[in-house]
Amino acid sequence: MLDVTPNRPDLPSEIARRRTFAIISHPDAGKTTLTEKFLLYGGAIQMAGQVRAKGEARRTRSDFMQMEKDRGISVSASAMSFDFGTFRFNLVDTPGHSDFSEDTYRTLTAVDAAVMVIDGAKGVESQTRKLFEVCRLRDLPILTFCNKMDRESRDTFDIIDEIQENLAIDVTPASWPIGKGRDFIGCYDMLNDRLELMDRADRNKVAESIKINGLDDPALAEHVPAELVEQLREELEMARELLPELNPQSVLEGHMTPIWFGSAINSFGVRELMEGIGTYGPEPQPQSALPRQIAPDEDKVTGFVFKVQANMDPKHRDRVAFLRMASGHFRRGMKLTHVRSKKPMTISAPVLFLASDRELAEEAWAGDIIGIPNHGQLRIGDTLTEGEALRVTGIPSFAPELLQSCRAGDPMKAKHLEKALMQFAEEGAAKVFKPAFGSGFIVGVVGALQFEVLGSRIELEYGLPVRFEASQFTSARWVTGPRDKVDAFTAANKAHIAHDHDGDIVYLTRLQWDIDRIERDYPDVTLQATKEMM
Ligand code: GDP
Repeated sequence: MLDVTPNRPDLPSEIARRRTFAIISHPDAGKTTLTEKFLLYGGAIQMAGQVRAKGEARRTRSDFMQMEKDRGISVSASAMSFDFGTFRFNLVDTPGHSDFSEDTYRTLTAVDAAVMVIDGAKGVESQTRKLFEVCRLRDLPILTFCNKMDRESRDTFDIIDEIQENLAIDVTPASWPIGKGRDFIGCYDMLNDRLELMDRADRNKVAESIKINGLDDPALAEHVPAELVEQLREELEMARELLPELNPQSVLEGHMTPIWFGSAINSFGVRELMEGIGTYGPEPQPQSALPRQIAPDEDKVTGFVFKVQANMDPKHRDRVAFLRMASGHFRRGMKLTHVRSKKPMTISAPVLFLASDRELAEEAWAGDIIGIPNHGQLRIGDTLTEGEALRVTGIPSFAPELLQSCRAGDPMKAKHLEKALMQFAEEGAAKVFKPAFGSGFIVGVVGALQFEVLGSRIELEYGLPVRFEASQFTSARWVTGPRDKVDAFTAANKAHIAHDHDGDIVYLTRLQWDIDRIERDYPDVTLQATKEMM
C-alpha cells in the first residue's frame, strides 16, 4: 500500500504519517456511509453497520434524544483513529445536525483538513456551504468526494462548475466518472491512469483496478463499452483543456480542491479518496497560540481542548475532554500543566478512540486526539503544556441566536439548577447568562432543538425538572473595552447586563437598534458576537 509522502521529511515519521481531518456535508449526502467505509478500509471495523446505527439515530428527534442519553455511542464516534497503509488517520466527527453548528465550528479547529462530501444529484447544499465557509476561515485544505454516482447524477462539468462558482475554489478532477446512473461503470483515475470498475453485486468489495497506459490503451475497450470510451475521451480532453491541473501546493493552501467521484455505499472511490488524503492532505500543522505559535515537531508536548462531553455515565459525574495534540510525543502518565489554572495534571487514563472501542492511549503524537477523563477542570479552549505558559487561540464561542429564560420546577432547587447549567455551559452545550437584576437564568443556544435536549439532560442527569420560557431578550453580545468605559456602560444599562459562566460581561437586548445605538453612544465599548474561549 501507500508510503508516507515525503512532504516534510524533516518531521519525525510518527508525525509525518498522521492525517487529522473531518468530513463536512449536508445531511443525507453520505457522511455516515463514507465514515463506515473508511473504517472498513482502515481495518477498524469488521462489518459495515456499526456506524450506521448512529447515523440512523439522528433521523428522528426521539431517537436523537435517546442517542444523547446513550452518551457512549456519540462519544466513541467523536474521534476515530485507524491506519491506512503507512498512514494514521484521525477522523474527527462533526455533529451532523444544523442545530449544533457551534460545536461543529469548534471541531473544525482540531483538524488539518476536511473532506467535503456532496451528493452527485444535488451538488452543493446549504449546510455544505456553511461548513465550507468555516473551513475557509482557516484556509483548511479540502478534498471533495462526489457521492452516489451509482444513481442518476448531474453532468460532471456542471457539478465542478457549481463548486467553483458557489464556493469560489478551483476544482481539479482526480477521477472522472464513466457513464451515468444505471450505466455508471466506474471511474478513470486521472492521477494514476487507472481504470476503476465498480462491482454492483458486492457492496463491500474493493473496486477492481486496471492499470491503463493512457486513453489510447486498447485495454480500455476491453473493459468499457465503445460508446462510453468515446464519451470518456471527449470529456477528458475537454476537462484537461478547461479545468486546472492538480497543484498540491494550491490544495494545501485551500485554494484548490481535488474531486473524486464514487459511491460510498458500493465502497467505490473510497480507497482513491483515502490515498488522496494521504498524499495531498497535510501532516499536522502548526497551531496558533500566544505568545508564540506551536510547531508540531517541538519536543515538548502541548495540546488543547476543543470539545468536552459530560455525564457519559450519569452515576459518576465524569467528563471527557477531547484534546488535540499540537506537538510532541505524549506518553501515558505524563504530568502536564493546565495553563489556565497553572496547576499540574497527571494524565493517567487518556483514551484513544478506535472505531467503536475505546482503549487506553499509551502514547500519542502531534495530530492525535485523546480523551481525558476529568472532573470538570478541563474546559473548551484550555491548553496543556509541559510548563510553558502557552495559550492556544482561534477557538471561538458564538453569540447564541435563541434565548430563553430557565427556571427550576421547584424554586428551592435554584442552586442545583445553577450547577447543572454551569456544567452545560462549560461543556459548550449552551450559553448561560446570569442577569445582574432579578433571579433565574437566561440560556442561549444556536438551534431550538438544543433547549429540548438540555431540558431532558438536566432532568435525567440531575433529577431536576426545568421550565424554559420566552425571554424578553433575543440577542447577546460580549462587552469589551477599557475598564472605566465598560463600568460606565454597565452602570447605565443595568437592566440589560448579565454575566456568562466565565464571569464575562454580556449585554442582552431585543433590538438590533439598541446595539447600533450603543456603538454610537459608547465608541470605546465593543459589543462582540463571538468570544475567544480561554
Ligand atoms: P449522512 O446523513 O450524510 O450521514 O448520510 P448517510 O450516510 O446516512 O446516507 C444517507 C442515505 O444515502 C442512506 O440511505 C444511504 O444508504 C444512502 N447512500 C449513501 N451513499 C450512497 C451511495 O453511494 N449511493 C446510493 N444510491 N445511496 C447512498
